[in-house]
Amino acid sequence: MPTMDPIPALRFDNTYARELEGFSVPWKPALAPAPALLFLNRPLALELGLEPAALDGAAGAALFAGNAVPDGAEPVAQAYAGHQFGGFSPQLGDGRALLLGEVLDAAGRRRDIAFKGSGRTPFSRGGDGRAAVGPMLREVLIGEAMHALGIPTTRALAVAATGEPVMREAGLLPGAVLTRVAASHIRVGTFQFFAARGDEARVRALADYTIARHDPELVGTPDRYAGLLRAVARRQARLIAQWMNVGFIHGVMNTDNMTLSGETIDYGPCAFVEAYDPAAVFSSIDSGGRYALSNQPLIARWNLARLAETLLPLLGDDAEAAIAQATEVIDAFPGGYAAELLAGRRAKLGLLRPDPTDEALAADFLALLHAGRVDFTAAWRRLGEAAAGDDAPLRALFPEPQAPGAWLARWRARCAEEDAAGSTDAAGAGAARAARMNAVNPRVIPRNHRVEEALEAASDDGRLEPFERLLDAVRRPYDDAPELAPYAEPAPAAVTACYKTYCGT
Ligand code: AMP
Ligand code: MG
Repeated sequence: MPTMDPIPALRFDNTYARELEGFSVPWKPALAPAPALLFLNRPLALELGLEPAALDGAAGAALFAGNAVPDGAEPVAQAYAGHQFGGFSPQLGDGRALLLGEVLDAAGRRRDIAFKGSGRTPFSRGGDGRAAVGPMLREVLIGEAMHALGIPTTRALAVAATGEPVMREAGLLPGAVLTRVAASHIRVGTFQFFAARGDEARVRALADYTIARHDPELVGTPDRYAGLLRAVARRQARLIAQWMNVGFIHGVMNTDNMTLSGETIDYGPCAFVEAYDPAAVFSSIDSGGRYALSNQPLIARWNLARLAETLLPLLGDDAEAAIAQATEVIDAFPGGYAAELLAGRRAKLGLLRPDPTDEALAADFLALLHAGRVDFTAAWRRLGEAAAGDDAPLRALFPEPQAPGAWLARWRARCAEEDAAGSTDAAGAGAARAARMNAVNPRVIPRNHRVEEALEAASDDGRLEPFERLLDAVRRPYDDAPELAPYAEPAPAAVTACYKTYCGT
């Protein structure tokens, strides 16, 4: 395989491959017959110390299609297991992905660089190791949207078409490789892989590695393994609360898709809720609704319990005491999550100080949205307009415009109470509140129909403009610019009613 170094600024330092023996298999990406760069994440490239201009053209295409492994990279396929829809698979692993290695970014943060769709590996089982253009561009769109929303996420650095078709249910589709940047690819399922084999030494090595990488303040402390579990629970509580506060449905919260870093990973059958419904589920394979919107915090807790089980032998020689310690962390998760959720909701309501009535105030707003099948994103955004004095846009979302009247009166009373404690006049306080709300309640999210439209054009006709326009829009979620109006509109109800997302493509 040719090697070249078009990106001299990338300095690899591959601790995962070097320090963790038996955790991965050295492997090479498949050759792509006709690489073409479809997407390059310029801001992210700059964060990594890359020169985006040097990556345009053939050099970038060869690099991001996997044809030119950069100097210093040591591609490996990582081993992991996982509970998928509740059933345990002791061996999953990177069946179509490779970790190229880690780089220190411009801010000194260690970040994984990985391929997805780069060909078969020893973990591929029946799969072809490939990925199609559409789903890889979906990873770009949703990841960039999440990042712009301030939600921890892995991000796409590039997507390159391979020039090779892949066979899927829909027929032959153009193939692509995604380059993904992550704080790490350590998953709950990585711990499960070794725990399931009774390999306590490797569970310990992985825990020590994870602590050094994500929770360095715990290094050397006697309580570090329980500390790791608490830290992961804290990150997940925060993450899931953020998902819930933008209506994000991951769709496939298997334990192999939950990171220890607290970043969202693997944008497969995910979607944002439109008309608010706690039971919303879009994934074609989630017929039981296991990963429905309102189940996500419960599933996060369930996944954390699976992580806790793998750590039990590290929590001390007294098995009962270890179980008690782990149980304490898992039992504390719902409370930690609820606090994160409420803090986020309070900000969405434009409130600054906690009050015992806030939880009911937020819950009753959501109940109104649910009853009226009102668009979640638009309703929160228009509540900001109500804060500035105009109720009409919010009321117009309801089948009966008077429906939110009593609730608005309660919310206004609560706002007035808070404002009375401040020094600004009522109008000034309203404008300030609206500005605060507009900084947390997005106007633009990746609407399902827009995403489909963009991916279809790219995949079917090789037209990238709809993708590029949508990407630009979701990167500015709080922007009131008039040209973004088409991206703020809810999908036609008929589209949402039968919207389905697909996995493993
Ligand atoms: P995911 O649903 O993308 O989280 O993947 C679950 C598991 O299936 C992982 O072990 C993947 O590596 C594997 N997998 C998914 N698609 C493919 C494919 N096309 N070829 C090989 N393995 C795959
Ligand atoms: Mg996965």
